[in-house]
Amino acid sequence: MTDAIRIRIVADQIEQLFQSLIKRDYAIFGPTVRDGAIIYDRIEDTSDLPRGVTDRQEAGKYSLASRPDQALFGYAIGPHSWKKYFHPARVKLFGASTDNGVFRILQEPTPPRQPTALLGVRACELAAIAIQDKVLLDGPYADEIYRDRRKEAFLIAMQCTESADTCFCSSMGTGPAVPVVAADITLTEIADNGNHWFLAEAGTPRGGEVLLELEHQPAGEADCLQVSTAVAAAGLQQKRRLDTTGLREALQDSFDHPHWDEVAKRCLDCANCTMVCPTCFCTDIEDVSDVSGDHAERWRRWDSCFTTSFSYIHGGSVRSSPKARYRQWITHKLSSWVDQFGTSGCVGCGRCITWCPAGIDITEEAQAIRGTVNHGNT
Ligand code: SF4
Ligand code: SF4
Repeated sequence: MTDAIRIRIVADQIEQLFQSLIKRDYAIFGPTVRDGAIIYDRIEDTSDLPRGVTDRQEAGKYSLASRPDQALFGYAIGPHSWKKYFHPARVKLFGASTDNGVFRILQEPTPPRQPTALLGVRACELAAIAIQDKVLLDGPYADEIYRDRRKEAFLIAMQCTESADTCFCSSMGTGPAVPVVAADITLTEIADNGNHWFLAEAGTPRGGEVLLELEHQPAGEADCLQVSTAVAAAGLQQKRRLDTTGLREALQDSFDHPHWDEVAKRCLDCANCTMVCPTCFCTDIEDVSDVSGDHAERWRRWDSCFTTSFSYIHGGSVRSSPKARYRQWITHKLSSWVDQFGTSGCVGCGRCITWCPAGIDITEEAQAIRGTVNHGNT
């Protein structure tokens, strides 16, 4: 059991966190501004962080704006999720070639992998990683590619003190507070009247070792109270919520519900919602060859239940209409996922709402079904 290590770091000293991780040979990935959005990418120091930037989100809309303080993590979440580091969007499985009529599978050595440190993981994102762990690490079909990337990862969580308009983690029980043992280190940023500092808490012994290398002061009771008040306020700020009571059963009983036709009129089948979702894990296998036909490769890439090819079975797609595909997605996410994995497939991050070009809102669609099929609805 780790002794509780809880310290206060002035914002200027956060650079030391980078140095401490680099010294341990971690490749650091975190938030940075690119192409008008906050995305996750390789970062080297605090100058890469989105200082003084916030995000504005609503259904089908996203933009960045400046904020009056110098907050480094003063945004909610962007289009990327951390799943791309453990469950890559595209990965080569193997190559093959024919040489003088002899067919050979090419065994390519796996290059040594530098351990990764993920900086700025929100509470909902930690919950999403826990869900993907259940499926891809601990489930009956554990995935080696996921395990190799996930096993050494050093997680630095960042508690939210503000929510976007599309967030609903509070109603899903996945945020905005981070359970302290869920990450190696949990940070909370306070940028208040020119007083800019972080509360840092260790969740693991290796997290504690890193923290004790940083210049710091012990965190006082007043510091902890200020942080817990700010995090609680982020939860209260959330305008959206998803009431999951009876939702699993309601969706199971709604195969022919007329509302599916309504949502199908708006859904463009673009698959954005599945690409941005931090828990969606479906993949397809793609074989490609060069023009000579002498060299071929097999790749695994993310797929989506919104494509017709996803459900193609000997002669046609079993989900040939947008209505069938949207129904499949939301029913799996909020209902049959519970049967398969013992948890909802949604953590309330709101990405599918923001990044849906038609502004389709999973909380509204679920309520439209749930409100008319009475399973525990009060
Ligand atoms: S379904 Fe939407 S809100 Fe839920 S985890 Fe996926 S992207 Fe986030
Ligand atoms: S619900 Fe929105 S994001 Fe998802 S496939 Fe339909 S239009 Fe695209």
